[in-house]
Amino acid sequence: MHHFRDIKYKRPDMEEFTSSVRDLRLKLMTATDEETATSVILQYEKLVSDFDTQYALCNILHDLDTSDDFYTDELEFFDEASANASELAAAMLSSLLNCPCADILKEKYGDMIFKKAVNQKETISKEIIDELIKESSLENDYSQIQSEASIEFGGENLNLSLLAPHLESLDRNVRKEAHKALDAYYAGKRETFDKIYDDMVKVRTEAAQKLGYENFVELGYKRMERYDYTREDVAKFREDILKYIVPITVEIRNLQKERLGVDELMFYDLPALFKKGNPVPIVPGEGYERVVGNFFEKIFEVDPSFFDILSENGFTDLLSRPNKATGGYCMYLEDYAIPFIFMNGNGTADDVATIVHEGGHAYAAIKSAEVSPFVECLSPTLETCEIHSTSMEFLSYPYMDMFYGDKADQYRQLHMTQALLFLPYGCMVDEFQHIVYDSPDMKPEERHAAWKALEEKYQPFIKYDEDHPFHAMGGAWMKKDHIFTTPFYYIDYCLAHICALQLWDESLEDPASALSKYNSLCEAGGVDTFLNLISAAGIKSPFDTDVIKKIAYSCCKFLEL
Ligand code: ZN
Repeated sequence: MHHFRDIKYKRPDMEEFTSSVRDLRLKLMTATDEETATSVILQYEKLVSDFDTQYALCNILHDLDTSDDFYTDELEFFDEASANASELAAAMLSSLLNCPCADILKEKYGDMIFKKAVNQKETISKEIIDELIKESSLENDYSQIQSEASIEFGGENLNLSLLAPHLESLDRNVRKEAHKALDAYYAGKRETFDKIYDDMVKVRTEAAQKLGYENFVELGYKRMERYDYTREDVAKFREDILKYIVPITVEIRNLQKERLGVDELMFYDLPALFKKGNPVPIVPGEGYERVVGNFFEKIFEVDPSFFDILSENGFTDLLSRPNKATGGYCMYLEDYAIPFIFMNGNGTADDVATIVHEGGHAYAAIKSAEVSPFVECLSPTLETCEIHSTSMEFLSYPYMDMFYGDKADQYRQLHMTQALLFLPYGCMVDEFQHIVYDSPDMKPEERHAAWKALEEKYQPFIKYDEDHPFHAMGGAWMKKDHIFTTPFYYIDYCLAHICALQLWDESLEDPASALSKYNSLCEAGGVDTFLNLISAAGIKSPFDTDVIKKIAYSCCKFLEL
């Protein structure tokens, strides 16, 4: 296996890429036998894989050190290059739809790639290249500003990840001050972010209208490749969460108030779920790789685990440091069939859940590496990918003594509590975007007011004081990068939670069966649509109200509510 440091980045030659894809496209359009068509497709897939790999590599190398201007410039190159590559891909796939061998190829490789081809035709066209480039550049602007955040706190300048532990400090004054510092940081960025977001909403709406849609909502759904559910299904799902989960979260907050012994549970108290503090890993940051590797050995009964191999070869970078981009992700390097795990461990309880989460993505990527000759079909749509990762978080419960010793139970309680609190939050992020893109002419103040109204609906327990004016006026959505960088990608996490919680619920009675369903979902990769994939793995639809009711019941029982 390659070591990560030996993989060299090389900027794709777009002239060569473009002319090769055009040649192949012509060949596909005239290919009359299966052999020729397959050979053309494989050559094309290799080109896509090379391009994707360099783009992914550029992102990773940039994120590992955001102060290195070289990769910042390279990302700028990709703003335009990836828009052009998408347009070429859409044209190529469109030719696949109409090529003489289409029926034979569908028979042989399944129709998922054909569904994707139709979808690409409906989401990308030459006419919107300028909009795509502008959109991508605005997304980079937001991410770059966030990664450069420097917040003065306790005599130090901290980035957003390093401020996080103070937000959940045991000392009420410390967390109050930390929230105040965070509030002031975002208040200072408010105008800039308002402008970036306003431009994004406008440019996305223009692109949608050029493609013939009324507004961006429909285009957003198609970009997220929602083949088998609609905005109505999603709206009903949010209603179910409001009805069956929000009351549980209100109960959780009441209990928290009692536990903390405060008169009133304030906004800055929310992250402090336990009086003695949220449990922190007993494993120091430098030990994460070894212990996580061990955990995966145990759960899958394979030694060394895939995680051991990834970390030995430099494909994990787990700890936060200055000039590292924020967030955590698993990025797949298609040419090498190896995933890279990136995150910002900072010694909080989130660390372990994040590593296990990204580990789930990495495991699934490896499991499905050969499921289709089409790189586009190796991994499923994003709500399904999030089941790979989120299920792993819940299935890891029995092993948590490895990370938390005698506090493992406290971790499980914390994690489940956070999962339930997350569901209404995720629905807010989703509903907010529907409101915004349904009325693209809203003024920035109106967007903040819309967020405030959603908080009152989904998080009725939040109380602000005068120290946090930015949050109080409805600004918190600006902290959520998905709202800026990946529109409509958020309800996916909620849908995935309901699926993952089903596996967790089953694992209480029959862990082997839950793990086997998990494995079959991972192995299927992206050869089918969301509802078909989960149904084939034996997981029920999250759009079924009874499923949500049952999950709500099991979770309450687990938390003794
Ligand atoms: Zn994920």
